[in-house]
Amino acid sequence: MAKCSVCGAPAVITLRSQRRSLCSEHLIEYVESRVEKVLRKARVRGGSLILAAISGGKDSATMLAALSRLSSRMGFRVIALHIDLGIGEYSRRSREASLSLTKMLDVPLVIIDLKEAIGATIPELARGSRRPVCGVCGLVKRYVINAAAVELGASYAALGHNADDIAAYALKSFLTQDLEYIAKLGPYTESIEGLAVGRLRPLYEISEKESFVYAVVNKLPFYHEECPNVDPEQLEVQLKEHISRLEQSKPGIRLGLLKRMSKRLSEYPSVEAEAKACRHCGLLASAEECSFCRLTQRVLGKPLGLKLRNYIRFRISAIKA
Ligand code: SF4
Ligand code: ZN
Ligand code: ZN
Repeated sequence: MAKCSVCGAPAVITLRSQRRSLCSEHLIEYVESRVEKVLRKARVRGGSLILAAISGGKDSATMLAALSRLSSRMGFRVIALHIDLGIGEYSRRSREASLSLTKMLDVPLVIIDLKEAIGATIPELARGSRRPVCGVCGLVKRYVINAAAVELGASYAALGHNADDIAAYALKSFLTQDLEYIAKLGPYTESIEGLAVGRLRPLYEISEKESFVYAVVNKLPFYHEECPNVDPEQLEVQLKEHISRLEQSKPGIRLGLLKRMSKRLSEYPSVEAEAKACRHCGLLASAEECSFCRLTQRVLGKPLGLKLRNYIRFRISAIKA
């Protein structure tokens, strides 16, 4: 059995790109030092508030545990947000896992139940709009996360994307020449006062495998099954598999891509459009209406951004009380 390159104890993981193996204690130290590096780059400090969006899966469990440990050392605060998407058994189990995780870590949790908030689940919104379910789901999640982060006055909304995910998004953006999206794929993005809160990707330099092993050695509760709507034919799903195979033959290629890319983000084109406030809900929009208000107007007959914002305010006041 491989031994830890730092202390000689039995190793739980081998980092091939660094030609070393780590025991559980040193893996934990390694993951948290990488997360801390992102937080320092993003100028997270004492008094900052991070809203961590958790799905109930392994990556968000790892992200929340690392943030929660670093928060006591660095003096910032963390609140978790889980969105119940209404996708049958998957959503039920993900919600349970999020509750267990936040209880174990003693982190306050805000649950936004879509059916309760706007009267429709993700599958119902997708059917009503005749759009692909993942496109609708992504739009709704972005809206809810931003609305909750604005409401809390958070410095950042943290997402559990790991290095494999981000490398796949970057390659997809290059293949489709959506270069504006690459400009947003750094470890963090800036906020727009009152309209949008910056995104933070604490697992920017953590691979999927490292994230999984961290969650297992820390005995974090998480739901193992993927959403039933994951389509193996999707471009980013296939790219993730290709990158993972490439990493086997060329260890370090994935992290090398992300590190080089994050140094050159300003060289990619960025969207120049003026930031506007949606006329219905007041949050960030590229036109008169934000995409969430447009979607709900089309499917449910009314723009429901404001209704959802009020529901979020109510849920947040319950955890503050
Ligand atoms: Fe949403 Fe699609 Fe992800 Fe399922 S696979 S959680 S529907 S984005
Ligand atoms: Zn060790
Ligand atoms: Zn709106």
